[in-house]
Amino acid sequence: MTENGDATPLVRVENVNKSFGALHVLRDINLTVNRGEVVVVIGPSGGGKSTLCRAMNRLETIDSGTITFDGKPLPAEGKALARLRSDVGMVFQSFNLFAHKTILENVTLGPIKVRGVGREQAEKRGMELLERVGIASQARKYPAQLSGGQQQRTAIARALAMDPKMILFDEPTSALDPEMVQEVLDVMIGLARDGMTMVVVTHEMGFARRAANRVVFMSEGQIVEENTPDEFFTNAGTDRARDFLSKIL
Ligand code: ADP
Ligand code: MG
Repeated sequence: MTENGDATPLVRVENVNKSFGALHVLRDINLTVNRGEVVVVIGPSGGGKSTLCRAMNRLETIDSGTITFDGKPLPAEGKALARLRSDVGMVFQSFNLFAHKTILENVTLGPIKVRGVGREQAEKRGMELLERVGIASQARKYPAQLSGGQQQRTAIARALAMDPKMILFDEPTSALDPEMVQEVLDVMIGLARDGMTMVVVTHEMGFARRAANRVVFMSEGQIVEENTPDEFFTNAGTDRARDFLSKIL
């Protein structure tokens, strides 16, 4: 857990609504993420967690309300949008690595293509990042040759390679075999300790307890409860949260 001295907002989500056709998926969402903070988002499937994450780096548009990042409204297009996407890293359940590129190439591609970093420098930094997530020895292999846990750690290194101001994790361990979950969570706990701003959709209670500053419980498109992890897991304030917890714990 990071102590957050100045507590300045990095992201502000205000009165955000989003529908898919008749389905009202985000209902008047308000959420602030401060610099250096780790916010865990938890809740039943279909509650809008992924849509909220995607809205935060504009992979999804919103119908009303505002989202600001670093004090500015999210850009709609062009260079500013590309910049936002590199400032806000995203790690998905399904890794999304390029199958025909090596592990190191997956990590260096963004810096070279988007940031204009030279190959040599990108590879040096890429190797440092692979070292940091514990898979430097796999650098020349292809994704299919790695375990799911190693692929997800590659995806984290790839996000880090862009020097993001924040990383969104959308159920990063849900697709993994149980024995690989912890190695990915350990990397994430390390990032949290180093002060990375993180929004993490996960049902991993151990991670939430160890790394989260706040837990946000989302259900049916609403933020039903926002709490400290200790309070949330031992003494949730709402029936909906208690009901959900009784099913997953
Ligand atoms: P969660 O991540 O909490 O499971 P989602 O944000 O993925 O929830 O989805 C919320 C609701 O929005 C679900 O009912 C889902 O089927 C629907 N939904 C998500 N994306 C789309 C889309 N692109 N088009 C139509 N419906 C969608
Ligand atoms: Mg989801």
